[in-house]
Amino acid sequence: MEAAADGRRLVVALDGPASSGKSSVGAAAAAQLGYRFCDTGLLYRAVTWLALRRGIEPDQPDGAERLVALVSEVQLLDVGDGRLAHVSVGGEDVTTEVHGPEVDVAVSAVSRVPELRAALLQRQRAIVDGGRIIMAGRDIGTVVLPDADLKLFLDASVEERARRRSDERGEAPDSAAAAETLAELRRRDSMDSSRPVAPLRAAPDAVVIKTDGNAFEMTVGLVVDAIRARERASAGVTPAASAPAASAPAAKEARPTAAARVRRPPAKPTKIVGKVTWFPWLAGGVLRFLARTILRLRVEGDPDAVPREGAVIVAGNHASSADPVLVGAFLNARLGRCVNWLGKRELVETPILGPFMRMVPIHPVDREAADLDAFRTALRILESGNILGIFPEGTRSIDGALKPVREGAGVLALHSGATVMPVALVDSDLAWPKGRLLPRFGRTVTVRWGTPFRVQDEVPGIASMSRKDANAAATRLIMTRIAALLPPRQRGVYAADVEAAAASS
Ligand code: C5P
Repeated sequence: MEAAADGRRLVVALDGPASSGKSSVGAAAAAQLGYRFCDTGLLYRAVTWLALRRGIEPDQPDGAERLVALVSEVQLLDVGDGRLAHVSVGGEDVTTEVHGPEVDVAVSAVSRVPELRAALLQRQRAIVDGGRIIMAGRDIGTVVLPDADLKLFLDASVEERARRRSDERGEAPDSAAAAETLAELRRRDSMDSSRPVAPLRAAPDAVVIKTDGNAFEMTVGLVVDAIRARERASAGVTPAASAPAASAPAAKEARPTAAARVRRPPAKPTKIVGKVTWFPWLAGGVLRFLARTILRLRVEGDPDAVPREGAVIVAGNHASSADPVLVGAFLNARLGRCVNWLGKRELVETPILGPFMRMVPIHPVDREAADLDAFRTALRILESGNILGIFPEGTRSIDGALKPVREGAGVLALHSGATVMPVALVDSDLAWPKGRLLPRFGRTVTVRWGTPFRVQDEVPGIASMSRKDANAAATRLIMTRIAALLPPRQRGVYAADVEAAAASS
């Protein structure tokens, strides 16, 4: 592989241990920069999945040979935005399957096989042709692309990585499942770093970014900054002329300081809005026009089914910055009622835009006390008989698939007795991926409205359940209703619940 001479066609190696955030951070950084993104772990996972299916053991006498033979059946497909995020085996989409627990357990033993690694080497190098790509893995900077223009190594303590993975899987801290996740990561770390061929380690010329305690966006920012700095260097611009280059010390400096963590005085509350006033009316009109101009918008289901009065929770999946507009601006106009949103307090405290954000209305939530603050504000909106808009996932999903959620949505629905209106934003992640500054033109996004319901009416015996079980059941029901409106690609962790609900109805 030739290093790119042209600053705009860089090849970036992004290595790190399991759950260090390589794939989510790498994909977000790539989207922001307009780079392609390839997670090479998917190749090893796909081969492992096939090997398990065919009963091939890496250490059986002809194991290596049989594993190598599987390579030609595996393909990584572009999901349409430069991310090679779909795994296809013999034409079958197995993206979800390759992330299953059986593959997690078996993959490190399979990827130790030198013959397999050699077979995958050329495949990986061929993907890089043309440059302008971030390639993530374990040995990209050391073996696959030793001449990469920039090498980054994301690292975090095994405890922090296990916490993140348990969070993703919805495992309670201190539970047996969380302990098992930690043990499994330790085992994979040790196998990946002790194997004789291409062990996991930072290349000597890699920039190491420690991510313990970093917010996701912060790590993405560090990676983007490092790549931009390298682009400028390739183009002959000195870093001093613009933003600082990322480096290990820079990564450390970027952590929030103790002073930044000091609790601030509470934010001034925003006025709850019931009926649409002039500002949401005007801004809604402009935003609807923009959304219709930029996107090919489809609306399915019946938004008019939202009750004309009383407390309503409008709950949707969250995969792009367009989502609140696609829900709020359209619903406000239909109902003459205003959707009240929660947002980080910085939004309403920005000097010029802040007062307008309050008029949307966005209700400020302090991130340092986010859960309690958000809950109180949301309850105020519902108890005054108004509409609350929420995205239970809390943050945009990078791949558009539903992520496990905390129980806020269910707790609110039970506490307030509100009607829940599920809504699905289909393919909004492809139209405006997380990390990308502007949306893509002409993409089709479907806003699919479901049927309103009250959790108390739908879960038999919920009133006699323990509070914990009732909250979990209510949240699960809300997420399953949202997932049922989404295509299989976006159902994520709730896919099985949708199937179970369909089978029992
Ligand atoms: O990072 P991810 O979990 O997707 O990778 C799965 C496994 O694939 C790793 O634990 C490692 O054993 C293997 N792998 C590898 N070399 C790579 C990428 C992944 O050995 N470049």
